[in-house]
Amino acid sequence: MSNIVLVEDDAAISGPLVRVLGREGYNVTLFEAGKPALESLNNTVDLLILDLGLPDIDGLDVARHVRNRHFGFPILILTARSEEVDMVVGLDSVADDYMVKPFRLAELLARVRALLRRSDHNEAPTDTIQVKDITVNISARRAFRGDDELQLTAKEFELLAILIRHAGSAVSRDDLMAEVWGESAEDSTKKLDMHISWLRRKMRDEVNSPRYISTVRGVGFRFERE
Ligand code: CA
Repeated sequence: MSNIVLVEDDAAISGPLVRVLGREGYNVTLFEAGKPALESLNNTVDLLILDLGLPDIDGLDVARHVRNRHFGFPILILTARSEEVDMVVGLDSVADDYMVKPFRLAELLARVRALLRRSDHNEAPTDTIQVKDITVNISARRAFRGDDELQLTAKEFELLAILIRHAGSAVSRDDLMAEVWGESAEDSTKKLDMHISWLRRKMRDEVNSPRYISTVRGVGFRFERE
């Protein structure tokens, strides 16, 4: 039986959702705020359905925290803020899918089934990511260069995991700061630069002709595929 966590403060939406999902045979846990949901999430969860407009913290921050902790389950966003949708699934890619309110329950059920099917198949391969001779094992929190284990701090590991997961694409400073430190980039880009430079040194990357992590001017950093 699949475990679904629903975070939604509006009873007019959560009520019918809980009933319909329960009728379909899913085990549904409802939270009406973001913080208690974050505290209870663990690896037995199969899918998170998340409202963006929550009373305590922004749903987007809930999603970023979840990604930051490298849980394997997909996130389906519910939002009335259609202007944010591009950010949610595009640039920021914190969510796997989204629905703009108001939505039909049948449509939501179809998305839920598709996401659960996809995550069933993906569990193993997403845990270990290899690009070039760098291997990152997310659940074991270990990283290797060839056969040599890299001795990384928690922050360095998280930075590497995010960059390598998006290998070939630039990841913005804002996204890295938000995911690793949960802050906005303005306060402390220095901190980010320092950690990137320590990470490069441990990977024995060349600053002038980087083999792994390139600086993307005005944007952030990119883990090189080629
Ligand atoms: Ca809401």
